[in-house]
Amino acid sequence: MQCIKCPHKAIYHHQTLKLCKEHFLEHFEQKVFKTIKKYGLFKQGDKVCIAASGGKDSLAVLYCSMKYCREHKIDFFALAIDEGIAEYRDHTLEDLKYFCKMHEIPLHVLSFKQRFGATLDQIKEKAITQYNKKPCTVCGIFRRTLLNRGARELGATKLATGHNMDDESQSLLMNLLLGNMRHNASLGPMTGLHDNPRFVARVKPLYFMLEKETRLFAFLRKFQVKFNECPNIHLSFRAGVRDQLNTFEERLPGAKSGMINAFLEILPVLKEHYRNEKGFFYCEKCGDACSGKICNACKLEEELCINISS
Ligand code: SF4
Ligand SMILES: [Zn+2]
Ligand SMILES: [Zn+2]
Repeated sequence: MQCIKCPHKAIYHHQTLKLCKEHFLEHFEQKVFKTIKKYGLFKQGDKVCIAASGGKDSLAVLYCSMKYCREHKIDFFALAIDEGIAEYRDHTLEDLKYFCKMHEIPLHVLSFKQRFGATLDQIKEKAITQYNKKPCTVCGIFRRTLLNRGARELGATKLATGHNMDDESQSLLMNLLLGNMRHNASLGPMTGLHDNPRFVARVKPLYFMLEKETRLFAFLRKFQVKFNECPNIHLSFRAGVRDQLNTFEERLPGAKSGMINAFLEILPVLKEHYRNEKGFFYCEKCGDACSGKICNACKLEEELCINISS
């Protein structure tokens, strides 16, 4: 199988695209840069906070964002969240620290322990048995909150995450299955419905990249990453949806991008519809924007983190 751009052997094949190593790397970066430009994800004058964990997606987004920001003279830094997941996050954070040192990227690390008073490992049993909440639900709420708070405190105007097309198509399908169209209205390359000074705009430079492409990019760029998974992933709803979508993609190559492109056609209408709905409130405890009196993170903190011995 030959590369469609040169006589070299193709190492990547998806639908009609066949690329050698060099042209795959070029294709990946150009597609990410095009997404950043087309959707105005990073602009002159922005201070970009790149959410990083040390996994392949986060190193790929960190690498491409770094390249784009340096080329366009945009200020940026990396922010990591340590959830406190033994034998997993400690290893990926090591990889991240090494990567940031090699590329001279300023890195900040915030932890659940510091900010909420407990690690995920310490509270997950209580979450499951007393509140019927999966570890990923708790982790997702705390991590999103902490990324937003950290980015805001550090003066960022954009928060870039490593979400790729697989993540986005999973979220889209999960929200549909749960009948939660409002959450779908918040998706897209630039997330959120309202401008709010307490909320740093989230952007997804890898929006059009497949998981397998991100994995290959990380491998070919020789990023030092451990391709292991979080030990809690098997408990999540997302893992089941991911497997189903992968089966669809195998039977119908291009299914994920078909879903996402169809979704993007209706997204502006969806955003407009939900933007006109009731607005938001400010949490009585922390002051963050939320849909009720107390935000989800403060509720969880009260339920799970108080009286945890260190
Ligand atoms: S798999 Fe779940 S628990 Fe593990 S890092 Fe992801 S969201 Fe957190
Ligand atoms: Zn080639
Ligand atoms: Zn709150």
